[in-house]
Amino acid sequence: MFYGTTPGWLEVISGVMFSGKSEELIRRVRRAVIARKKVQVFKSHLDARYAGVYAVSSHDGTIVEAEPVQSAIEIMERVRPDTEVVAVDEAQFLDKGIVRVANALARRGVRVIVAGTDSDFRAEPFGAMAELMSSAEVVDKLHAICVVCGGPASLNQRLVNGKPAPYESPQIMVGGRESYEARCRHCHEVPRKDEGQGDLLP
Ligand code: ADP
Ligand code: ZN
Repeated sequence: MFYGTTPGWLEVISGVMFSGKSEELIRRVRRAVIARKKVQVFKSHLDARYAGVYAVSSHDGTIVEAEPVQSAIEIMERVRPDTEVVAVDEAQFLDKGIVRVANALARRGVRVIVAGTDSDFRAEPFGAMAELMSSAEVVDKLHAICVVCGGPASLNQRLVNGKPAPYESPQIMVGGRESYEARCRHCHEVPRKDEGQGDLLP
């Protein structure tokens, strides 16, 4: 944990799906509540998977729940003037405005904790995560376990009908029949139409 002498900084929790980003975010939120800080938690409305997980309660009965937001500016509008800690989960789904919002809140004296997966199913940067990482005081990159080889996994494998999704498939599939696995670089598969040039492309 980073303790600045002047309040207000940005912490990013990045990593592949299943790497424990939400667990870590909740751990930090719970501790902030125990420290009697005024906390608000937000998450992209696109993530409806874990409704209820964010109800973090303190011994004095305070309950913090994640507020779903459609856009980064909505976070700015909803943050109360006395809020000391702002946590944002699934930040890769938010628009690039999250970079300005996170920095503005940090400058204002808020401890900002942002969690999100930093690479998409193609192993390319996801949303504003790279920019958030570059302006953060603290970055943690968590790993999951590769379901193929058992090594440390840092990439999201998208499967459609059990098969690796092609490069051309959209970055965000809402309500699709796709599933995800955590895989390492060596076991990650993104088939391309032109397989011959695959290794030369980014
Ligand atoms: P994230 O927010 O990064 O998607 P979560 O905090 O929701 O991660 O979930 C992390 C939990 O997922 C782990 O504690 C573990 O119990 C479980 N899990 C499922 N599959 C894996 C995997 N392949 N590697 C590591 N943990 C996994
Ligand atoms: Zn592997």
